[in-house]
Amino acid sequence: MIRKIAIVLCTFVSLHVFGWGMIGHRTVGQVAEKHLSKKASKKINEILDGESLAVVSNWMDDIKSDDAYDHTHAWHWVTIPDGQTYEESEKNPEGDVIATIERLISELKQGNLQKKDEAEKLKMLVHLIGDIHQPLHVGHGEDMGGNKVRLEWFWENSNLHRVWDSDMIDSKKYSYTELADIVDNVSKEQVKAWQSSGVRDWANESVALRKQVYDIPEDKKLSYEYRYYNWSTVKLRLAQAGIRLAGVLNEIYG
Ligand SMILES: [Zn+2]
Repeated sequence: MIRKIAIVLCTFVSLHVFGWGMIGHRTVGQVAEKHLSKKASKKINEILDGESLAVVSNWMDDIKSDDAYDHTHAWHWVTIPDGQTYEESEKNPEGDVIATIERLISELKQGNLQKKDEAEKLKMLVHLIGDIHQPLHVGHGEDMGGNKVRLEWFWENSNLHRVWDSDMIDSKKYSYTELADIVDNVSKEQVKAWQSSGVRDWANESVALRKQVYDIPEDKKLSYEYRYYNWSTVKLRLAQAGIRLAGVLNEIYG
């Protein structure tokens, strides 16, 4: 019984919390660096004491070990049930990724923040613009963003959420700088188009990708074929996240 409770608790604690893994988040930060204006880059360098966006991108996952940040746990994801819009959906009183990104952008734009506070808000923004582009961070509310979809990934136990967070990316064996170079291969027009969209559009794109994400074989054994059909989407979402992050930061600091 105790073991059962422990398992349930572990499942619960791990719900939606990770977002892209280490390499995914760093890739988003690295892509963004390359699209910052000179002015924004200088300002951000001061705020982050010389640390890069890639380096700070996982801070928001690290602080999950710190009780002082317990109130931030729900900010990594959002539930939008099938057939509903975000506006229609029931909101989590603890916050969600859409509301938090919108709030952080407006707080950073207003300015007048203590340096430590500004650095923390900036690090959160870098992380969450990554998360919202991971399709399973905009869940339909039935399976904890795919965490409950147990499956095999290359003959190891995993779940659908983890496949999208890190399994696919890690299995490609790229460093984050290599992956950033690979995904950041878009025209100026495309950059402009992506940067002209808003936070809710990004969430809606994640919703639209669900059909593809949940198209898994009946035996739940995922490997080469699933990766073959989904890798271009992973790359696209990392590129969009990085380029849009840069767009937001140029607007705040440019
Ligand atoms: Zn996250």
